[in-house]
Amino acid sequence: MSVRCPELVTMLGELIAINSVSCTQPDWDHSNLPVINKLAAWLDDLGFSTEISPVPDHPGKANLIATLGSGPGGLVLSGHTDTVPFNEERWHSDPLQLTERDNRFYGLGSCDMKGFFPLAIEAAKRFLDRDLQQPLIILATADEESSMSGARALAEAGYPKARYAIIGEPTSLKPIHMHKGIMMETVRIEGRAGHSSDPSLGASALDAMHAVLSELIGYRNELQQNYHNSNFRVSVPTLNLGCIHGGDNPNRICASCDLEYDLRPLPGMDLDNLREAISQRLSPLADQFGVSLETHALFPGVPSFSNEQSELVKVAEKLTGHQAECVAFGTEAPFLQQMGMDTIVMGPGSIDQAHQPDEYLAFDQIKPTVAILEQMIARYCL
Ligand SMILES: [Zn+2]
Repeated sequence: MSVRCPELVTMLGELIAINSVSCTQPDWDHSNLPVINKLAAWLDDLGFSTEISPVPDHPGKANLIATLGSGPGGLVLSGHTDTVPFNEERWHSDPLQLTERDNRFYGLGSCDMKGFFPLAIEAAKRFLDRDLQQPLIILATADEESSMSGARALAEAGYPKARYAIIGEPTSLKPIHMHKGIMMETVRIEGRAGHSSDPSLGASALDAMHAVLSELIGYRNELQQNYHNSNFRVSVPTLNLGCIHGGDNPNRICASCDLEYDLRPLPGMDLDNLREAISQRLSPLADQFGVSLETHALFPGVPSFSNEQSELVKVAEKLTGHQAECVAFGTEAPFLQQMGMDTIVMGPGSIDQAHQPDEYLAFDQIKPTVAILEQMIARYCL
């Protein structure tokens, strides 16, 4: 059954109407296949060849690779199909229904970032009967907001490949060429409970955790002395001791204690090296306190991203009239970059409206986005 690709606002409304929340909490997590299937049907209708690629070990999740034309090089326009969870009671309209108000399109994912797809498709429509010398690829990924498993799977497969990639995250149409990485880690200490009146009856996980905290704070100071990047408002790597749980009673030796922290490395700092360094610092504490001590990553982490000497950045700066900037949030950019693509993050809408009630895409973002994407396609695909 063939589906006609509708006009822009209809596309936007249909995408918003699909709940495609991705979340580490299973109650919230939804498949992104309905979004992927819809995009594939529209792009099929326009003459793209479409490929739905299931994400390994993530049932119900898939990436879409839709390609127009062929040849070396080419341009990827990339977006994620999922959204964050939402508090319906705090919205002024149905989050899953596109609502026009005050020259804005309200809806969950309107700016972050299902709204990017109709604009990218709108730009692509101008080139359907042109003879593309290099491919235009519209890439739609899974699980960006939770695990980035979609982009991770693409990076592992090394596919698709193009010379350039634009990720349409909300940046108010300013080119972004740098962001920090994100790690979320946990330290679990198991000691032995006992009567508090005699310390020799147990092994205090809390005492050991005190030493762990000191080590981590010491390591943070070291990192902040050694690494600095003045492009960022917070110019040093950060390590936040986020939460701690342990013990049950004042008169019992604490048998177990868990810590969770995040670490945001600057470009040039490797996630695995950081984990290794932390583990080396912490592991001697196990013997010292007679406890077991384990470190785990809560998720695989997002590498930092930096693309400074880039042709695409220069072109984007010229087209938008904005100098490339850094952002404080992580994106799929490092994964596309790993695949060899000159990558920037640049899209409509503001991150200020993302991840909160009454998310919207302002009307005045739409025409400039389509115009810039058309110029990018003309430059890199014709
Ligand atoms: Zn996003």
